Amino acid sequence: MFPVMLQLAGRRCLVVGGGGVAYRKIQGLLAENARVTVVAPEVVPGVAELAREGRISLERRSYADGEAVTYALVFAATDDRSVNRRVFDDASGAGVWVNVADDPELCTFHVPAVIRRGALHLALASGGTAPFAVRRLRRLLQRWIGPEWGEWMEAAARFRERVRGLGVSSVCREALFDRYFEETVDGETLHARVPAGPEEDRIVAREAGEDRAYCNGEPVVRPGPVAGSPGLVSLVGAGPGNPGLLTLRGYRRLMAADAVVYDRLAAPALPCDLPQGVELRCVGKTAGRHPVPQEEINSMLIRLSRQGKRVVRLKGGDPFVFGRGGEEAEALAAAGCPFEVVPGITSGIAGPAWAGIPVTHRREAVRVTLLTAHECEKDRTQVRWDLLAQDPSSTLVAYMGVKALPRIVGKLLEAGMDPETPAAMVERGTTGAQRSVVSTLSGLVEEALRAGIRPPALIVVGPTVRHAERLDWAGRCPLVGRRILVTRGTRWLEPLERAGAEVVEVALPLTPAAHVVLEALPLSDVVVASREEVEALDVVRGGEGWGPEVTAWCIGGGPWQRARELGWDRVERAESQVGSDELVEELAAAHARHA
Ligand code: SAH
Repeated sequence: MFPVMLQLAGRRCLVVGGGGVAYRKIQGLLAENARVTVVAPEVVPGVAELAREGRISLERRSYADGEAVTYALVFAATDDRSVNRRVFDDASGAGVWVNVADDPELCTFHVPAVIRRGALHLALASGGTAPFAVRRLRRLLQRWIGPEWGEWMEAAARFRERVRGLGVSSVCREALFDRYFEETVDGETLHARVPAGPEEDRIVAREAGEDRAYCNGEPVVRPGPVAGSPGLVSLVGAGPGNPGLLTLRGYRRLMAADAVVYDRLAAPALPCDLPQGVELRCVGKTAGRHPVPQEEINSMLIRLSRQGKRVVRLKGGDPFVFGRGGEEAEALAAAGCPFEVVPGITSGIAGPAWAGIPVTHRREAVRVTLLTAHECEKDRTQVRWDLLAQDPSSTLVAYMGVKALPRIVGKLLEAGMDPETPAAMVERGTTGAQRSVVSTLSGLVEEALRAGIRPPALIVVGPTVRHAERLDWAGRCPLVGRRILVTRGTRWLEPLERAGAEVVEVALPLTPAAHVVLEALPLSDVVVASREEVEALDVVRGGEGWGPEVTAWCIGGGPWQRARELGWDRVERAESQVGSDELVEELAAAHARHA
């Protein structure tokens, strides 16, 4: 017996027989995405249900001579040995692998008993000689190889990627893998444990330390937390909220962080695959809670740094644009804590861009002013309204301006700005919740009021705003305004994103960061392709981001059925073979109906 693992996705497999044994084989094949044909005059209800759901093709008749030869893999599980024998003869004669249930002589392969822990498969087989021994042994081993191995395998895979990215010699690489295994797997009990970020860093630092000369580019190997020496604080810009608009460097810093201190505005851009053990601290305003005062944030950053941790201070947009990033940098510098700045895409540029407004345009706008609307409260005098109002070839972008809108408009008009100057407001730019109004300076207050624009929003004033109508590329996308949850590794992310949706991609099981992201803004749709996904996502249903108006799009009958069983509100079903174009079309049609 020569053990192999077969890749069955898309392969044609035949099951002859429709009883309980056949049903279990069919389920196993479907779990691997095989294309299953079942030939049987009578079938148990489970098999009939699979046929109704379109997951198998069922032919209710007896086996016809010779038909096994066109399949990749054949199972026979009828109670008639002569039929089983014919299937076996046909298949084996044509070189097709065949297995007759409970009849080792009529098998060219056996199916092992399997223990699965994520990507780890343990297969047990006795060549058909003593199945009872295999069953008992499997039960014993299941206890030894606990469920934690699934998570450990994922962590090990991430560790492998990390090590490969280090650019160290192959000897060093192997040493790192050995050490990782030895430190996290108990050789006696076979218990596996996912190491926390700092511990993993220590492994890397110790083994890869002497190999640093082999690294190229950025110094990727950093020593783990060392008592007494402060850790690096990265002031990272999260971008305007859409998860795809975080920078690559920002993403890398987040993935390597021990602690992340984030604002509410930055929450939707947190990477959903942020490792479990990362300390997550929200310092922004959340429902019913006041934001943490700036001095406390400063001292929190200093404290975390002094614990030797690598800290990411994640802020909406760019950290140095109205984000008080400058003050935090000052405090860190004064405390002697090392810091760096990872700039982000500021909302004042990205928000208008998403609404079709270029903030500069040749011969129209040659200057951009970023203004905080707070400055026009209580007659602060730092803003030169006279200059802004008399500068027709420029764009004015005001942050934090929802409440102050009437005052700003009043000041500009008072200082002589043309009331017909094009003007707009953009709320929650780049996210699935983006809304905008386009008007003139004199009409903006009323229009914004009518549309009910709420913070966070920007005011944009200047000649280029008039392009919004023609360049409203995002507004013309069929899925604009949708915030859609998909799971990692599916093929939906890109097509949905291209169709204008904000797509949140999560790995399962959900990480604490994924929970933060999912609750940051309301979802509109969820796409699920398996029962397991339905079950894993059920925990967030009914939370802040997942209200009753969310539509769940189930690919295939299995997830659809599971979602209904669990009482999901709006459940739509797509064929299991649905292509991305069709899915986008269906979602767009539903979107149009609701709009
Ligand atoms: N550092 C941030 C700005 C922080 S001040 C940046 O560079 O973007 C907070 C203000 O930013 C909000 O009141 C709002 O005016 C603006 N803002 C942030 N994200 C926004 C978004 N997605 N859409 C519109 N305005 C946004």
